[in-house]
Amino acid sequence: MSQYKMWIGGNWVDATSGKTYPVYNPATEAEIAQIPLGDKADVDKAVEAARKAYPVWSRKPQSERSQLVLKLAALLRENAKEIARIDTLEHGTVAKNALFYANDTPGWLEWAAYGARSLMGHTITVSPDTLVYLQREPVGVVALITPWNLPLLMIYQKLGPALSLGNTVVIKPPSINSLTAHKLAEIVEKVGFPAGTVNVITGPGSTVGEALASHRGVDMVAFTGSSETGKAIMSLASRTVKRLQLELGGKNPAIILDDADVTNAAGAMARQQCSNSGQICGAPGRFYVHEKVYDEFLEKFIAAMKAMVPGDPNDVNTTMGPLVSATHRDRVESYIESGIDEGAKLVFGGKRPTTPPMNKGYYVTPAVFTGVTQKMKIAREEIFGPVACIMEKFNSDEQVIELANDNVYGLTSWVWTKDMARGMRFANLIQAGTVGLGQGRGGGPEFPWGGYKESGIGKEGSLYGITEFTNLKRVQVDLVAPKK
Ligand code: NAD
Repeated sequence: MSQYKMWIGGNWVDATSGKTYPVYNPATEAEIAQIPLGDKADVDKAVEAARKAYPVWSRKPQSERSQLVLKLAALLRENAKEIARIDTLEHGTVAKNALFYANDTPGWLEWAAYGARSLMGHTITVSPDTLVYLQREPVGVVALITPWNLPLLMIYQKLGPALSLGNTVVIKPPSINSLTAHKLAEIVEKVGFPAGTVNVITGPGSTVGEALASHRGVDMVAFTGSSETGKAIMSLASRTVKRLQLELGGKNPAIILDDADVTNAAGAMARQQCSNSGQICGAPGRFYVHEKVYDEFLEKFIAAMKAMVPGDPNDVNTTMGPLVSATHRDRVESYIESGIDEGAKLVFGGKRPTTPPMNKGYYVTPAVFTGVTQKMKIAREEIFGPVACIMEKFNSDEQVIELANDNVYGLTSWVWTKDMARGMRFANLIQAGTVGLGQGRGGGPEFPWGGYKESGIGKEGSLYGITEFTNLKRVQVDLVAPKK
């Protein structure tokens, strides 16, 4: 078993308290590492290091900064196999998917490194005697606070633009899987950033996360996680009016209209529901199926859920690994119980497997509920597991649009129809940051991602995501002396 350290100010250090905490393999329940249990004292050190590095890093030419970020991306790709191995070990990510993520996600750093070189200001013509120009500057020290569900992607999406644009960062990965962030710090060390430009500090959200969100030396918090934590961070950050980028939870409607290609819809939606064992903010949360195609959809959807192969993430036949932790498995199971208690019908799955190797590890089989109503807890709250909620049948476009929008979240959504004009009308009326007409392929750094309502503030990806990490300054120049 390995002992890990934190990366602060260009040095590998233990927590000031000397304390550590265990990390477990979710597929076997075996302890795999001891991680430094950081606290406020360590946050102070990391923020101080990032503040000291800020003038050095932010004043480097853009080309030099971008080149170092590209070097980081290249080294991450070179280490993709090892990073994927760690992702599977600590998160239970199916091995082939982990390798795909490890090779694909450095693209977020490349996008930001090139994007930062293309950012330009503007001028505003006031009069022949006056020039006003706008320039973009880094925000300062940025705290990156990330969730456990996609450990690599969640960091790179923020790290790329933050670093490329001249900010310095303190990364706080999730406590239950921070080994990938530790590997990132090892690679950062090889790149040659000025000491303190990138810091990685481990520990619980309730101490390290809160200390960062309220720290006077932190100028911005870029956060992905639950809406509940997002609200807590907003409140802590309000004390010093920090810039916030919040990518929060979702309870995403998938609407199957009467003219949908039902076979495609059932297969694609089942795969989305079970992707990463359902631990995806953009997984379907509520299925609204038109009464004319309801029976056909249900039959095909259950068949597709049955076709999922939960199991050892290192087995090539496995399509779905375990849930990330015992606590999270218990949480998903408590939602299943609540659905049954409130009168929904569990028509498939939702059990703890008892056969080896899944009698160890935090597994729950894919589950399908029918007869779910708007008021039930499983229809309102994010389950974050492979549990599909098929709502009561609907029979009109206006009715289903109202039902889809009747939720505090507004992250993503799907509309399945062969009539694109009808689909685009839905896209106009659905309150969500993303609408997929069909499966909604397309994603990655070129596209903005971010939620409406309690699903968040700000965007990741695209030029919108890059500019989140800048301040816009107005410079007013008198070209001739003002008349007396
Ligand atoms: P979480 O909110 O529990 O934790 C996220 C991070 O915040 C962790 O690093 C945690 O240690 C830290 N944290 C916890 N309490 C804190 C506090 N009081 N102050 C500061 N930091 C604190 O979320 P999670 O369970 O790790 O992740 C799952 C959630 O993330 C789901 O709600 C999911 O929808 C959301 N998510 C959203 C997106 C998106 O793009 N919108 C992407 C992935 C995950």
